[in-house]
Amino acid sequence: MKGVIFNVLEEMVVQQCGIQVWNEVLDETGDVDGIYTSGDSYPDEELFALVETVCAKLDQPMATVVQAFGVFLFDQLAARYPMFVENEHNLRDFLKSVESVIHIEVKKLYDSPNLPNFTYDESDADTLLMQYRSPRKLCILAEGLIRGAAAYYDTEIEIGHDVCMHKGADHCDLKVRFLDGQNNKSL
Ligand code: ZN
Repeated sequence: MKGVIFNVLEEMVVQQCGIQVWNEVLDETGDVDGIYTSGDSYPDEELFALVETVCAKLDQPMATVVQAFGVFLFDQLAARYPMFVENEHNLRDFLKSVESVIHIEVKKLYDSPNLPNFTYDESDADTLLMQYRSPRKLCILAEGLIRGAAAYYDTEIEIGHDVCMHKGADHCDLKVRFLDGQNNKSL
């Protein structure tokens, strides 16, 4: 996992709970680097261990913390790389650009970033089905990122997630349903 993700986790904890709590998280997690360079890679297990400590300290379930982290991560990434949101005028177009534009650019910025793969299905006018595939199974983080994007574009959505790698499927179906009609596919 790239250091930038660790940097954003630190920022979230510091912003919401203070630097003292982040220092405690590092201490209590044990064998961690603690200082992360955005473009360097660190073991996935290290990020998961830090998130587990955050969950234990805040007494919150993993899914809640990971989803909140996804929302926060979206804002941070949008601030660091504004061109990706500025180039797309609505949430549907933005979500579709993740695979065809953003991931291609991220691969130029970072050496082997191990990104998930998305395929899209737009058979329903009011829904964008994003099929998520990644050996990391971070579909809850992906959901959080989508919710962060929806807030950015001021768009009301529901996310269906019945088909999931954590329930034995080989991919996750993230069904993004647009509630305000503005993102409906023009037929
Ligand atoms: Zn899933």
